[in-house]
Amino acid sequence: IATLEEHALKKYKWEDEELWISNYVARARIKTDYKVNSLLHHEVSPFQEISIVDTKGFGRMLVLDGVPQVSSKEGFIYNEMISHIPIITHPDPKVVGMIGGGDCGPAREAMKYSGIEKISVVEIDQQVTDVCRTWLTPSSHYDSDKRFSMIHKDGVDWIQENKGNYDVLMIDRSDPVGPAAKLFNQGFYKDVFECLTDEGVAVFQSGSPFYNTSTLRKTYHSLCELFPIVRTYLVTIPLFPCGLWSFTIASKKFDPIEADLSRLKAEDTKYINSEIVYASFVLPNYVKEILESN
Ligand code: SAM
Repeated sequence: IATLEEHALKKYKWEDEELWISNYVARARIKTDYKVNSLLHHEVSPFQEISIVDTKGFGRMLVLDGVPQVSSKEGFIYNEMISHIPIITHPDPKVVGMIGGGDCGPAREAMKYSGIEKISVVEIDQQVTDVCRTWLTPSSHYDSDKRFSMIHKDGVDWIQENKGNYDVLMIDRSDPVGPAAKLFNQGFYKDVFECLTDEGVAVFQSGSPFYNTSTLRKTYHSLCELFPIVRTYLVTIPLFPCGLWSFTIASKKFDPIEADLSRLKAEDTKYINSEIVYASFVLPNYVKEILESN
């Protein structure tokens, strides 16, 4: 730790000789602290500060600009929930794309569906991919799959070059700050619509329904302006502050709540199963109010 640059440690603090990382959500004034066993890696890319830490509670954790993104102990929850639901919503997806998600967790889940012929991951920051390959997920898990390709490019530019090609798109975006801010614009949602086939389905990480209400509301309303079917579903992600998180699915033809659950490849999943798919679309009244309010 002593060898790290001073600024690498600004999000970390010592308390009684223990090192902690603090995730501060300014808009909600929520602070979540994670005990760090060791800081395994740190580098600064042109886009963000990238760290891998080993933690007491979550195992290895990818931290971008001081914000925990995914961990080895519970990353399966996010990865399974962002990928399987849009894939089974479409009855026969062949071409699948992901924007963000350089850790390739959702891509690995998509590979379980043998009918899919092409899986492209578009990650702006090659350094995130390289760091995750070294410290989080061995690349042998996906590099050998001929259907898989990794594109290092801004998702906003990529999507404008791929009109009408994709059956399923997953927008595995981080918070609306830094390079991910553009992935929350109305223009981007329109590009997603145009990148999908006439039967296409897209899913978006849409924030915490507890303290990110405006992100969720804006995502839902923006998608309703474009897509005939828009549904938000919920998931519990222990790593994220307050734990409750949302994804919002937008579809041109198929309704996720009518998906054929027998297509779900849940033989070796750790979170998702058919009951979870059903239950995740059941929303509490306060979440319905967020979606319905202006
Ligand atoms: N799967 C995750 C989780 O559990 O929260 C983490 C998502 S995180 C890895 C989001 C990724 O989106 C980051 O690696 C970031 O570099 C990438 N990203 C941000 N803006 C982007 C853009 N405009 N185009 C493509 N990728 C982007």
